Amino acid sequence: MKQGEFSDMLNDIQSIINEQVIPLEPLLLSQQWKPLFKQLDQLRSAIKTKNLWAPNLPLSVGGMNLSTKQLAQIAEVAGQSPLGHYCFGCQAPDAGNAELLHMYANDFIKSNFLLPLSEGKIRSCFAMTEPHTAGSNPTLLDTTAELVGDHWVINGTKWFTTAADGAKFTIVMAVTDPEAPRHQRASMIIVPLENTGYKNLRNIPVMGHAGSGYFSHSEVKFTDCKVPSNHLIGQRGQGFKMAQQRLGPGRIQHCMRWIGIAKRCFNLMCQHVKQRQITPNSTLADQAIIQSKIAESFAAMNASRALVMETTQIIDEQGFDAAKHHISMIKFECANMLQSVIDNALQSMGALGMTDDSIVAFFYREERAARIYDGPDEVHKISLAKSLLKSSDQNH
Ligand SMILES: Cc1cc2nc3c(=O)[nH]c(=O)nc-3n(C[C@H](O)[C@H](O)[C@H](O)COP(=O)(O)OP(=O)(O)OC[C@H]3O[C@@H](n4cnc5c(N)ncnc54)[C@H](O)[C@@H]3O)c2cc1C
Repeated sequence: MKQGEFSDMLNDIQSIINEQVIPLEPLLLSQQWKPLFKQLDQLRSAIKTKNLWAPNLPLSVGGMNLSTKQLAQIAEVAGQSPLGHYCFGCQAPDAGNAELLHMYANDFIKSNFLLPLSEGKIRSCFAMTEPHTAGSNPTLLDTTAELVGDHWVINGTKWFTTAADGAKFTIVMAVTDPEAPRHQRASMIIVPLENTGYKNLRNIPVMGHAGSGYFSHSEVKFTDCKVPSNHLIGQRGQGFKMAQQRLGPGRIQHCMRWIGIAKRCFNLMCQHVKQRQITPNSTLADQAIIQSKIAESFAAMNASRALVMETTQIIDEQGFDAAKHHISMIKFECANMLQSVIDNALQSMGALGMTDDSIVAFFYREERAARIYDGPDEVHKISLAKSLLKSSDQNH
């Protein structure tokens, strides 16, 4: 796609976000799920007809065949609303699941699960983290899947399975080969959730909100849960390798979504401080301490964006493996930038920033998790530092 055409497309997406997506946010904030999802479905259909659906997927699965750099730019614009990625069919965890199935699944899985997922007819989830084992080292996970005859029998408990409520299937990460080397013990298996061996125990209250449907995180249990052997994704024992490949592109989309959120909060902060009179002759915007927050937030957003764009360039030219350290770097850098910009916006808005009369409080509550999911800050910093220290030896 030529640069001019792509810029027009970004402008179209921005208009849809401003005119059709943001007006639906009050339904989200007042937890009116049913009318919200009805309207989101109508909007998704309209977006499909404009050929703006599933920018993360290749054309062969109904996507748009974009470069990583182009996808990242869309992720920022659509990310300005918590409903944006869902409306354009590129929301986590479905996006990562669809990309994974496209790369690794057999024909049966592709036609029965990937097709309806990529068309937005069903939702899915991804169950790897467990309450009783450290998610930051998933080689410790202990959910098992045993091949008995021609079925996998799965046992274990998972939590923080995002969007499990109402999903049609999950991808489960389970130990299939306990005696194998650490990184070859686990496999990924598709489990349709209408299964007597599966139970959604609860939607976990997170910062006071249990949520529901797409906006929830569940604790789920598998008890002698049987699925046919052809529900295995890729090769047996390849679970960790595939998990890394699933998370790589997802991190770019998260980082750019966070930049979109930061931009939205930044704009709300600017609008508020300009009109908030604090003396008869001055507004908050006249205060140097507020101006400092504005300047620092703007610099942090631009620095994060430049770093992600550099990462996308490496990916597009040399592939994901070459960008491994950049991906760790942007993951913690953008998550921390996000937290600081949201906090600056909330602080500048005073009591209003704490309410659901603006979207800032929602972002503050929901996005603290950015520093934890897809690898906590510490894990990415350790991995980056180790590699830098190793290469500094070689540079001597
Ligand atoms: C909102 C949200 C959505 C999520 N969605 C999903 C999902 O859809 N599917 C799924 O499977 N999981 C999901 N997760 C789980 C997430 O991936 C894990 O929370 C994450 O991997 C960390 O694991 P843990 O919570 O067990 O923390 P732990 O591994 O117990 O670590 C606790 C803390 O210790 C620190 N730490 C960890 N390792 C080190 C180290 N080596 N050195 C120093 N400090 C360290 C970090 O600060 C970390 O936050 C989600 C989590 C959240 C909060």
